[in-house]
Amino acid sequence: MIKIALYGKGGIGKSTTASNLSAALAKRGYRVMQIGCDPKADSTQNVCGIDKMPTVLDVIREKGEGTSLEDIVIQGWNGILCVEAGGPTPGIGCAGRGIITAFERLEQLHAYEIYKPDVVLYDVLGDVVCGGFAMPIRGGYADQVFVVTSGEKMALYAAANIALAIENFKNRGYASFGGVILNARNVEREVELVEEFARDADSQIVKILPRSSWVQRAEEQHKTVVEAFPESDMAEEYRELADRVLQICQMEEN
Ligand code: ADP
Ligand code: SF4
Ligand code: MG
Repeated sequence: MIKIALYGKGGIGKSTTASNLSAALAKRGYRVMQIGCDPKADSTQNVCGIDKMPTVLDVIREKGEGTSLEDIVIQGWNGILCVEAGGPTPGIGCAGRGIITAFERLEQLHAYEIYKPDVVLYDVLGDVVCGGFAMPIRGGYADQVFVVTSGEKMALYAAANIALAIENFKNRGYASFGGVILNARNVEREVELVEEFARDADSQIVKILPRSSWVQRAEEQHKTVVEAFPESDMAEEYRELADRVLQICQMEEN
């Protein structure tokens, strides 16, 4: 099982990238589980084609011990298994703790043994890399962490914090830094700035994703680009990303 986490600043394009990556991998025949770890809970909406995914935390609040796997794992396009951890009641509780609760519940219900995913993809908000949000890195959940960033200052600031979190835990056999995904915003000297960050973090850019209007067009249909416009140049970019990510994960496994 390949376990990947995508981290990055809110709004940078993690969920768009994660969903298209899931779709490209599923199209290649892999069984993919995508787990949204962002209180926004919109990671998998374009894979599942629905607006409001039920979240693990909401279902637990409602059903408690009666929560079943079917309540929290929704099958989307090409059999992609979609999970949204969800978030705390605003002003009360801890979002990080919520992620841990969701992970624990999936394990308790034997989600991985039952669905046997080839790839598990965590889509994690990286603005605050506190203990809770670092859980996919430090709990032995993700093997490879990919950081999604543009050349914008705040995105690079978040990316640098994520890199530090990975560095702090790397000697304990936890996740490695798989690489940097540049989701372009077309700011000045963008590639140069992101290359500089990657170099400082002892990593590299694994893929440059251009800004593309295909993304919005697909979103309007509640679909990924890979599903809605498979012939487009942007779908090809996401398929290339999938190949790169697989290559890196398989290289690390051997
Ligand atoms: P995050 O999950 O990091 O909060 P999203 O994936 O939801 O961010 O992306 C935020 C918005 O940015 C999306 O609504 C999407 O339309 C847009 N977006 C992301 N990547 C691209 C891209 N490569 N080209 C054009 N628009 C993009
Ligand atoms: Fe929880 Fe992190 Fe927020 Fe602290 S900063 S309350 S650990 S989510
Ligand atoms: Mg998101």
